[in-house]
Amino acid sequence: MRATLAAGVACALLAGPPPALAVLPLAGMTVAVDPGHDGGNAAHASEVARLVDAGTLRKACDTAGTETNDGYAESAYDLDVALRLARLLRAAGARVVLTRTTDTGWGPCITERAAIGNRAHADVAISIHADGGPVSGRGFHVIYPQSIPSLTDDIAAASRRLALAVRAAFHVGTGEPFADYVGRDGLDVRSDLGGLNLSDVPKVFIETGNMRNGTDAARLESRAYRQREAVALARGIEAFLSR
Ligand SMILES: [Zn+2]
Repeated sequence: MRATLAAGVACALLAGPPPALAVLPLAGMTVAVDPGHDGGNAAHASEVARLVDAGTLRKACDTAGTETNDGYAESAYDLDVALRLARLLRAAGARVVLTRTTDTGWGPCITERAAIGNRAHADVAISIHADGGPVSGRGFHVIYPQSIPSLTDDIAAASRRLALAVRAAFHVGTGEPFADYVGRDGLDVRSDLGGLNLSDVPKVFIETGNMRNGTDAARLESRAYRQREAVALARGIEAFLSR
């Protein structure tokens, strides 16, 4: 009996710590997750139309977002994917900061969405959206900030690397094609998005699909597909952070 117990302890020591105590892949990392828009934005049109400084231009605090042809709101979709992603990242050991956790309020403004990631000193930030493109267009694209002196030049290179990692993981993990109506090869670079311009941490937007396209909409409306998207996004973020 005693010999068996001693052998068991020796085996445990040789095997290293039990899984619960193993170092999680994203331990010590902070990720800012920004679900686009908000469910109450449409009902607060004047508040969200207020102009804010987006770095390269003044533009609305936020917008209402799009929806599928049968009325699934982008804001609800964005939040669902964001919460799924947050759960996965936390399970991998990350600290996750969300810009909103409900779909009933309005805002925050694009300026605050960037500030939340900055204040958290996030290692990486991602804004989750779905597009309202032409009916015939489908596919996803990842947007990273153009390098602008004294604005995004400090995060542009890292954000592009993040965009490449997220694009690869999302493409493989979901099977969604690159957008055929915007960007190129699933990537776009922009200088007019306050959420990117005002970020001090590596950041991308993903437009996961086109809500106005029937094929994309059917996927985006599936809970199982949204979980696949979240898993793919988590893998992309993990790939970027493990470099
Ligand atoms: Zn959007």
